[in-house]
Amino acid sequence: MPERFSSIDKVVGSVSDDEKDQMSAIIEDRFRDHSSEKFLSSELLKYEVEKTPEQLDMIRSVNELTNNFLESMSYPTMDIPPDNVHIISSEGWSNPETDGKFSPLIQGVAIKDNEIKTIIFDKLIHEFLHMKSYGAIQADQEGFMAEYRMGLAAFDRNGEKLYLNNLSEGFIETLAKQLLSNCNDVALSEERDQFVAVKQKFSYATDENGKPALDDDDIMYASAYRHPDGSFDLSIIEYPYQAERYAFQILTAKIFQVNEGKISQEEIFAAFADGVFTGNLLTLGKMIENSFGKGTFRKIAEAGEDIEKLLEIIGNLK
Ligand SMILES: [Zn+2]
Repeated sequence: MPERFSSIDKVVGSVSDDEKDQMSAIIEDRFRDHSSEKFLSSELLKYEVEKTPEQLDMIRSVNELTNNFLESMSYPTMDIPPDNVHIISSEGWSNPETDGKFSPLIQGVAIKDNEIKTIIFDKLIHEFLHMKSYGAIQADQEGFMAEYRMGLAAFDRNGEKLYLNNLSEGFIETLAKQLLSNCNDVALSEERDQFVAVKQKFSYATDENGKPALDDDDIMYASAYRHPDGSFDLSIIEYPYQAERYAFQILTAKIFQVNEGKISQEEIFAAFADGVFTGNLLTLGKMIENSFGKGTFRKIAEAGEDIEKLLEIIGNLK
């Protein structure tokens, strides 16, 4: 399988081919010759923590895990160097909405530090899958580089509206969850054992609705703290992007349903994966149009970043 040396496969926009080549070269340079000093703001530099040997091992493992997946689907692979991964201390992390970020323009990934290794692992898989997705940048009106495509997600040519990002996140985290649950890396084994022990010990615990609190496959990790008086606190960590994963799950289930088994689950997954990892949205677009009528793919895309609207559109499909 071919190997990529940056996350950008294409440069678009109304600049000359020479300028496009120059932009590609700049991005490749940012990938290969990446350093915190060059690409982090002075503010972030203060909060970047040195990676522990264990975190360096995790980066190696997650590269292998995600490359094995890409290879199994015949997509090009990519090794993300540890220098391109920045671990930021929790007090220096400013985005409350997410604990990880991939920036195509600097060719780097930032992760909020966490003492729970399972969480770091999930974040690394998620952001590495973004970085290993199909990528394109565009030259904006002033000739500057701007984001254009990242997996399924696409900006319009003005760089203002972002399409299909929620479905992209839903697909990426669904896949991250799958890869993480099937991964037997030693870094995870201690926490897995602890999680199983907590599940057994507190199997009677219920949530505010009276349902078993720990019997849910959406729980990534749980720990317990017992107070001296015998009462206990459970700390439950769930896989993120629940609404986005739900949108992806309902859409794929409906495609399967309306086609009455003529399209397999694997074919549906592959149509999404092709869109994400090769950038080719044709199969997915056709599949959605053939299933629910002309214009549906566009309607889904135009929900933009409004997840409620996307859920409503998908909920009404038949
Ligand atoms: Zn993401």
